[in-house]
Amino acid sequence: MNAPQPQIKTSSPIGDEIKETTCYMCACRCGIRVHLKDGAIRYIEGNKDHPVNKGVLCAKGAAGIMQHYSPARLRKPLRRVGDRGSGEYKEIEWDEALDTATAWLARIRATDPRGLAFFTGRDQSQALTSWWAKAYGTPNYAAHGGFCSVNMAAAGLYTMGSAFWEFSEPDWDRAEYFMLFGVAEDHASNPIKRGLSKLKARGAKCVAVNPVRTGYAAVADEWLGITPGTDGLFIMSLMHELLRSGKVDLDFLIRYTNASWLVIEESGGQEDGLIYYGEKGRPVCWNADAQEIQNAYECDGKPALKGTYTLPDGRTGRPVFELLFERYLDKRYSPDNVAEATGLDAATIRRIAVELAEAAFDKSFELDIPWTDAYGRRHEKTIGRPVAMHAMRGISAHANGFHTCRAIHLLQILLGTIDVPGGLRYKPPYPKGLDSLPRPSGRPEDVLRNAALAGPHLGFPTWPQHLLVDEKGDPTRIDKAFSWEAPFAAHGMMHTVIANAWKGDPYPIDTLFMYMANMAWNSAMNTSDTIAMLTDKDARTGEYKIPHIIYSDAFASEMTAYADLILPDTTYLERWDCISLLDRPISEPDGPADAIRQPVLEPDRDVRPFQDVLLDLGARLGLDGMITKNGAPTFPGGYVDYMVHHQRLPEIGMLAGWRGDDGSDAVRGPVNQDQIARYTENGCFWHEPLPEGLQYYRHSNAAYLGYAKDKGFVTDTNPIVMNLYAEELQRFRLAARGFGDRTVPEVHRTRIETYFDPLPFWYRPEDVTQKTGDSYPLHAITQRPAHMYHSWGGQNAWLRQIQGDNKLYISELLAKEKNIQDEDWIWVESRHGRIKVRAKIMNGVNQQTVWTWNAIGKRSGTWALDPDASESQKGFLLNHLIDDLLPEQPGQYRYSNSDPVTGQAAWFDLRVRIEKADAAEPDDGQSGFATLKPPPGTPPRVKMSQYGKRFRRKT
Ligand code: SF4
Repeated sequence: MNAPQPQIKTSSPIGDEIKETTCYMCACRCGIRVHLKDGAIRYIEGNKDHPVNKGVLCAKGAAGIMQHYSPARLRKPLRRVGDRGSGEYKEIEWDEALDTATAWLARIRATDPRGLAFFTGRDQSQALTSWWAKAYGTPNYAAHGGFCSVNMAAAGLYTMGSAFWEFSEPDWDRAEYFMLFGVAEDHASNPIKRGLSKLKARGAKCVAVNPVRTGYAAVADEWLGITPGTDGLFIMSLMHELLRSGKVDLDFLIRYTNASWLVIEESGGQEDGLIYYGEKGRPVCWNADAQEIQNAYECDGKPALKGTYTLPDGRTGRPVFELLFERYLDKRYSPDNVAEATGLDAATIRRIAVELAEAAFDKSFELDIPWTDAYGRRHEKTIGRPVAMHAMRGISAHANGFHTCRAIHLLQILLGTIDVPGGLRYKPPYPKGLDSLPRPSGRPEDVLRNAALAGPHLGFPTWPQHLLVDEKGDPTRIDKAFSWEAPFAAHGMMHTVIANAWKGDPYPIDTLFMYMANMAWNSAMNTSDTIAMLTDKDARTGEYKIPHIIYSDAFASEMTAYADLILPDTTYLERWDCISLLDRPISEPDGPADAIRQPVLEPDRDVRPFQDVLLDLGARLGLDGMITKNGAPTFPGGYVDYMVHHQRLPEIGMLAGWRGDDGSDAVRGPVNQDQIARYTENGCFWHEPLPEGLQYYRHSNAAYLGYAKDKGFVTDTNPIVMNLYAEELQRFRLAARGFGDRTVPEVHRTRIETYFDPLPFWYRPEDVTQKTGDSYPLHAITQRPAHMYHSWGGQNAWLRQIQGDNKLYISELLAKEKNIQDEDWIWVESRHGRIKVRAKIMNGVNQQTVWTWNAIGKRSGTWALDPDASESQKGFLLNHLIDDLLPEQPGQYRYSNSDPVTGQAAWFDLRVRIEKADAAEPDDGQSGFATLKPPPGTPPRVKMSQYGKRFRRKT
């Protein structure tokens, strides 16, 4: 008999204290346990109990230590004393900094609140920043979503009350077939890794659709190296095949979508293409059993999905499904006809369609979970359809992204895989129908001196009346979001702010106030012109065209060099923070969840959490909700005070867990003074799994909708009907045809008519972004590496050791054609500029595509790196080559380089050519930017970081 083995402790204490909090090294917000020793961070591990990561920690998360101790951390408030970009700053006290900011902001608020443009980057406190901006009264507020993946979010919310990532998640435990479109470590990182390992352990098939085979695509069972910008064509071809072969879930379509609703046929009329609404304002269908028109919500027979029917007013109507059927059965979407453009062969497309249908229907299953739908029908079983999908920026950052993103949801809906076991599962507070989502505020009448804005800045227009335009139809926001240029700009258009402010179009501003938005580098398309605009002066007055720039960040980046006033932020390990259901939630499919950050260490510099600073500024400005009747700050304890005591609606606040006097209420309940203590005791998160009967079909699940209304997630218990046909788009089209009381400026009419199609369609991005002819035949895109996130990852001492520069990856075929070898210097040129980079040859890339890693290239002298650091000497950004505006055309309006529906930056539509360079040739691109001077207080550079040395045992 074997002797008992000694127990090995795999996790011995290595410090003298452990504090739990939430990671901020990317957007996933995993739970972490920070081990402290002698007042310093010794080690970071994943929190095994946390719903997001269940203990998994990635390289970035572990390297949070080097983020916290980065030499690039700002140390004290700074005031510019030289020209912008000179790096000449003087250190000032917080009182002076806050007095200065208050004086600038108070003057603007008293004269014209539009003079403030407040935009934030990849921050995680938008519930606070949006509330602050609303109280201030400027219409000009948004975060970075317009530059990121707003197409994905907007398309999902206009279609099915949800989207991917924070809104829903594949059922990793039951999916048999998983398709991943355009995803490379962006957004959901650890959750996807955990999910893929579950799928692989069960032998489920994973198909990655991406021009580049890296990361998740590299471990997929099948890689489809699609040509950028053609995902929509591929998806519509899959729909073509499924519809052609009758492999769609008709029961699901009839019950939960608008497939049977009748659409008015009135060619040239003012209601052409709208849904017909009958009695009680309900849509109608044709009841094929009763042979009559009926209220579609109460149809007691079989609704027709095809045919033409006479409406009660004598006009004719056709079911949505028939319009959809005709659209995708069109031969332009047949596999044979899309093969060349997509770079995929027709047989593969047909096979994928067959595999999808087999997984959805032949592997369908039932769970013993009874439920009742919102129409009163009892279902004894819950049907599973084990096909799941996930998509992100790769399909959305194109000028055709909105329609592509909507198409991927239509594909899932046709297969009946939305919020079912095995499919895509909603995460509370989603789904939210369009009636539960806000409309944007910012029309001229919404903006008053010294007053709060009438409503929220961002929202979901459903009628032209909701646009933020004046009586002439011109934009009222500085970024032109929600104007005829980009009507569904749900996340704003941060990428247009600097150019518009510089031009004074639609009006000049006084102060640009930014937080964590590296607009002079990573977050700008057209970096050189953006920098020129930030530094340009009015020849007449000698003043900067953008008079004041206030910037807050924890680190000295490329952007800090252009600010007039710098408010230094803490690192994520030095502050209270809130991952709120009112913001970008971290819920799980089984129920809502939220989290906090707690300070793990006190700052050792004269810095303050931006959230505290914002509340302080709000109190100094006397903003609604930030001062008491006596004029004292409402939240003297700063952000953590706000997290507990602020109520957005009665009994609904920032934190959903442990509400009420005894902490027994969830989501809605009175303020609990012990709430923060309860979070910290619980590892800094809260998660409430729902009963199984509330976990599926939540768009139409009566019990769930009742729960959601009670918790304030939705405004009523009506079913959230999936919009196969998005009538909302047609309303804008009709306005462009001259109907209704809204003026559509002549210049925008054709564009609205073309792109506001209520059914997704595919067009070449160049139809919007203008053709480059044969001059720039290659697509150029970026991928986010597993070990970096935004620009702050590339300065991290440990992550830099994984990668300190980047190369341009090209296919073997292209290398041969151009006689390029590995490491050769090559020119990459777009119609906007050229940069010199090194080449790397690889197999797993679409033949028409070149690509590189994102966010590694740095400007010399920034981020406390050596001026000769490889990130600035060998690393590069493709941003230098991307247009922010479309090329000037005589007599034509100059649009931003964006999707015409949502205004999403179309930075994945970059077209380039490459040619071999002489290594000695000077580069007028990336390295043409002068070295920036580091701000005062930057510590002397060390040649080698030896952080761990302090913990070594003395011998
Ligand atoms: S995926 Fe990694 S970096 Fe992102 S939050 Fe989780 S541990 Fe942190």
